[in-house]
Amino acid sequence: KSLPYFCRGEVVRGFGRGSKELGIPTGEFKGNCFLINRNPLSTAFISTLFHTYVSSLNYPSAANFPDSVVEYLPADIGTGIYYGWACVGNGDIRKMVMSIGWNPYYKNTKKSMETHVIHTFKEDFYGEILSVVLVGYIRPETSFPSLEALIAAINNDIEQAKFKLELPEHLKLKEDNFFTAAI
Ligand code: ADP
Ligand code: MG
Repeated sequence: KSLPYFCRGEVVRGFGRGSKELGIPTGEFKGNCFLINRNPLSTAFISTLFHTYVSSLNYPSAANFPDSVVEYLPADIGTGIYYGWACVGNGDIRKMVMSIGWNPYYKNTKKSMETHVIHTFKEDFYGEILSVVLVGYIRPETSFPSLEALIAAINNDIEQAKFKLELPEHLKLKEDNFFTAAI
């Protein structure tokens, strides 16, 4: 089992659908997302690895990087809705829900990871490093009969995430030094 799963990546622009159509912004990782299952590696090791990875990146010409490192998620982290913890830059650690799946705008050829941080931010945070730990699974991806039904489902996901993350075993992950490790 690959959960909890730790990852960091630069927040890039998607299609602006999250805010516009759903009223729920979803920060998108693309290209430069770095994913690693910390178990059984040590945080210090990962931090070093991540640092090496980031400094090896030349963002404007990162084109020969796979478009979506999402493709390298372990097999048991399938598509669907996950909950966990997220941190923007060096900011506070907050609850999040994440959708992992196929973006129809890419003709189903590209999987994406879209994170909604359960917090109202004053500003966008494109270009910031988003650190995330996937803690648990909520439900599979489904298509909905209407946008309203989709929004209702997402709001339900958010409520579930808020509730489940209060479990002591999940609260513990919020304190993980993955979030404080220098990037
Ligand atoms: P995009 O299509 O570029 O992903 P969205 O409409 O989905 O655009 O909005 C996502 C962006 O909104 C994020 O990249 C981030 O900069 C900003 N944002 C503001 N508040 C949040 C939040 N609570 N969770 C996620 N992203 C947020
Ligand atoms: Mg989005």
